[in-house]
Amino acid sequence: MATCNANPVSLSCNITNVATPSSPLYSKTYRDASVIHLPYNISISENTLAVIAGPCSIESEEQIMATAEFVKKSGAAILRGGAFKPRTSPYSFQGMGIAGLQLLRKAGDYYRMPIITEVLDSEDITIVADYADILQVGARNCQNFSLLRKLGKIRKPVLLKRGMMVTIKEFLMAAEYILAEGNENVILCERGIRTFETETRNTLDISAVPVLKQKTHLPVIVDPSHAAGNWKLIHPLALAALAAGADGLMIECHIKPESALCDGEQSLRPDKFALLMNDIHKMNTLLNKKLECI
Ligand code: PEP
Ligand code: MN
Repeated sequence: MATCNANPVSLSCNITNVATPSSPLYSKTYRDASVIHLPYNISISENTLAVIAGPCSIESEEQIMATAEFVKKSGAAILRGGAFKPRTSPYSFQGMGIAGLQLLRKAGDYYRMPIITEVLDSEDITIVADYADILQVGARNCQNFSLLRKLGKIRKPVLLKRGMMVTIKEFLMAAEYILAEGNENVILCERGIRTFETETRNTLDISAVPVLKQKTHLPVIVDPSHAAGNWKLIHPLALAALAAGADGLMIECHIKPESALCDGEQSLRPDKFALLMNDIHKMNTLLNKKLECI
């Protein structure tokens, strides 16, 4: 314990010396490749291609079961769904909370798919980790270092989304916060950054994919849904991401996008998702990866 001089009367502070590794834990120097092992023999790695699909938010049992059924049928490996939603407006639907986690687990168990959902607040880490196979850190929390440190203390995989104003270097250092606490199961997700362009919700930084793949052993996946904000752009952007070297995709899907409580405009309906999966299969013959499905 060292005493700070700023307020000699009462102020004291802890100065913790953190040992700095000779090379960052995210770097290729530290490790060549990472494999994230998930239930049902699914993995996320440079040798596999895993498609994560599902609704932006879990809305009801019928909705999540029907969505899980069609994404699984088309070949998705992992089921997504938000229970705690980071909405721009506090008056928008905030997610079903624990009831949503229970429904997502039920759908994942029934259709034999690992599940991923966002943890918004460090208070919820334990409960989210009880239900989910992968904990998602949303773009808005990418540099919430206190949350990241706490996620470093668990051993479940964490999918870290790139913040919309976060450089690649900052993104990697955010991942380092999780790794430095001992959790080696980190997946990076490029989901678009904020630029001057207004035709798309964000700008998918496709070059981030090969840059990240050169700098880190961590798997890199791409979410074209939040990048584009428009379902018509998902198919070409998803294929572009795979061509750029992504290890997987996260695609928002909905049984009835026009009535979705969140992000319906960027969600694929079943027939469009099936078409995309068909092209992913075709493209994968060139990529020569193991397409993960159960
Ligand atoms: C999401 O995946 O539902 C989400 C809110 O994404 P992002 O944090 O990338 O905006
Ligand atoms: Mn969404």
